[in-house]
Amino acid sequence: TNTTETLGFQTEVKQLLHLMIHSLYSNKEIFLRELVSNASDACDKLRFEAIDRPELLEGGGELAIHVGYDKAARTITISDNGIGMTRDEAIANLGTIARSGTREFFQQLTGDKQKDAQLIGQFGVGFYSSFIVADKVEVLSRRAGAPADQAIRWESRGDGEFTISPAEKTGRGTDIVLTLREGEDDFLSSWKLRDILRRYSDHISIPIRMKKEEWDAEKSETVVKDEEETVNQASALWTRSKSDITDEQYREFYKHIAHDFEDPLAWTHNRVEGRSEYTQLLYVPKRAPFDLWDRNRKHGVKLYVKRVFIMDDAEQLLPAYLRFVRGVIDSADLPLNVSREILQESRDVKAIREGSAKRVLGMLEDMAENRKDDYAAFWTEFGQVLKEGVGEDAANLERILKLLRFASTQEGTPAQTVALADYAARMKEGQDKIYYVTAETFAAASNSPHLEIFRKKGIEVLLLSDRVDEWMLSFIRDFDGKELVSIAKGGLDLGALADETEKKQQEEVSEEYKPVVDRLKEALGDAVKDVRVTFRLVDSPACVVVDSEDMSQHLQRLLKAAGQ
Ligand code: ADP
Ligand code: MG
Repeated sequence: TNTTETLGFQTEVKQLLHLMIHSLYSNKEIFLRELVSNASDACDKLRFEAIDRPELLEGGGELAIHVGYDKAARTITISDNGIGMTRDEAIANLGTIARSGTREFFQQLTGDKQKDAQLIGQFGVGFYSSFIVADKVEVLSRRAGAPADQAIRWESRGDGEFTISPAEKTGRGTDIVLTLREGEDDFLSSWKLRDILRRYSDHISIPIRMKKEEWDAEKSETVVKDEEETVNQASALWTRSKSDITDEQYREFYKHIAHDFEDPLAWTHNRVEGRSEYTQLLYVPKRAPFDLWDRNRKHGVKLYVKRVFIMDDAEQLLPAYLRFVRGVIDSADLPLNVSREILQESRDVKAIREGSAKRVLGMLEDMAENRKDDYAAFWTEFGQVLKEGVGEDAANLERILKLLRFASTQEGTPAQTVALADYAARMKEGQDKIYYVTAETFAAASNSPHLEIFRKKGIEVLLLSDRVDEWMLSFIRDFDGKELVSIAKGGLDLGALADETEKKQQEEVSEEYKPVVDRLKEALGDAVKDVRVTFRLVDSPACVVVDSEDMSQHLQRLLKAAGQ
């Protein structure tokens, strides 16, 4: 089409724009970080596409981001010579939120400014954050490789509609022009813009350029020069040495690559040398994304080869149970034209995956040891995913077992805070097993009649009620030589925990009740496998147990629910 078309935003975008302008207002300078972050992504994408199609670079020229302002027009412009957008791409990428979990996100909004601001931050607003400070946003863009007269102009006032029309643009890439809202003139200052760029975008590996300004003593005003200067360090953060990187820079880099507004919980940065050479900078986020349980969701690690961005979402680089990790892996060995198929087969990738898993576990161990509150927060968000590792990563089983946390009768609350090592350290004299009970809910587990004898004897029992628990337990035989035993199974043998006189008494009682047991067996017939006199109950008259070799009742119910 050759004319201007007016299109409506997706309903969610309208809602989001409205919310964002009001909720993120106290943090409005982030718009610059978001736009620079997008410009940098666009340059990364071009560099990658140009590996196979060098003509996209249109005769070279350095990739760069330019930031400028016009006091008279009250505009700020962010330009890049990256990949650019076609008409369809602009409509799809700037008019919709194509993210899973969007509906859940909107359902969680409360109308409370502070809570909502946090949620919105977590969700990520990216490009739309321009509307916090601007009442008009223009995007002029030309896709790399398209002729100069095939550019597009996208325009919106953030009020529910946008227009898109054909345009001309000589240079490849995207210019974003913000016309500031009334009262936002503070941003029309070189000092202010540089300050924000240094604070939030110093780690961007593409140079960010601004025009030089000088104080003219005669005219007694600053004059803008034609010459430009680079305002960031413009080197890939992960290639710098650890001692040259501040925590603040690590945090800002995380927000850029993870598209998160919150600080990360922890990170690990290493250069690995030897048979396989790579650099890894891996982060644990503070909060689980909305779509953590979506099996098709994107994984978080970006793959670079010799500093060239190759792909997002390189799931081969970490085992699935560590899918909450975000970050960058830069390989010195893989070919630049590496595809997902090659990744699948590559021995280098296998080495990277194993090395990275070990690093992440090390980072978690460190947190569990030295920052217990942070680890508790981590466990609440990601503990259930980490449990998958018990079944998935036999090589690291011992380490993963130590990282698990459970609810138990000791604490009596649903909070999962007890490590197997804590349990082992508290075991009673003569106790050689770790006892647990599984149920569908914490309440059901902690009210299990099987617990009575354990409560009476003061023996701690782990209370398990997460969906993955049964599955996970099928992979654990013991912890540190102590067998894990379900208290709901079989002829529970308390071994040395039952004293001699008790044992004798029990034999006598069993003998005495034999006629009753026989009659019960006859009456129940095939409905049960066996009837036994039990000493595990204190208050309840009877309970159902499963044979030691059989599936637990909880697992039976789960399978039934799953239609098996
Ligand atoms: P995100 O960066 O998390 O994908 P944004 O809202 O920041 O979300 O941006 C939405 C999309 O718009 C980007 O994924 C990209 O496809 C497109 N986009 C934004 N800015 C640019 C740009 N400067 N050049 C090319 N594409 C861009
Ligand atoms: Mg973005």
